[in-house]
Amino acid sequence: MARYIGPACRLCRREGTKLFLKGTRCFTDKCAVDRRNTPPGQHGQVRARVSEYRTQLREKQKLKRIYGLLERQFRQYFFKADRKKGVTGDNLLTFLESRLDNVVYRLGFAASRRQSRMLVRQNHFAVNGKPVNIPSYLVELGTVIEVREKSKSLLPIQESLENSGGRTPSWLDLDKTQLKGEVKAFPDKEELALPVNEQLVVELYSR
Ligand code: SF4
Repeated sequence: MARYIGPACRLCRREGTKLFLKGTRCFTDKCAVDRRNTPPGQHGQVRARVSEYRTQLREKQKLKRIYGLLERQFRQYFFKADRKKGVTGDNLLTFLESRLDNVVYRLGFAASRRQSRMLVRQNHFAVNGKPVNIPSYLVELGTVIEVREKSKSLLPIQESLENSGGRTPSWLDLDKTQLKGEVKAFPDKEELALPVNEQLVVELYSR
């Protein structure tokens, strides 16, 4: 699946908020949003007209960028969420959070979702005992994700765990010695605390 390979900080500056796409750098004073919070490009400082459509579009772009998705794949998640019983916005967040690359990041095995996606592709993880190298793989309740034996001493994984400082969310159960985690529940939006109003995304696609 195609993905954006341009500069990550540019995306944050475009949205005017920190999307935490670069791991530890996002928590230092090198963060581009902290240093220069203006939209990128020659006309970045020109104030754009605010419209309802624009506000909805920006929320959608933020959510897409946080999870590192392009339009087609993101839209597929939306339609799946819309078909599922329940609140579409909540369903959408659950689908996005269930992606294997996101869960690996949330467990602290990677410093960012970008890095997590790369590590998953390189086949460093097993799901329920079987190697899986598909970042978009959707985990379920009770799914066990572990670092494969051959990858346990891998520096990026070790460093990420060290720097994660116990940021494992309550809906995941992490065994730091075995490098293994289990999905105990799915988070609600309050717990995720994303800088996004997912309801506006739903409204955008419902136009
Ligand atoms: Fe965004 Fe992180 Fe870059 Fe800051 S350092 S602009 S939060 S990707």
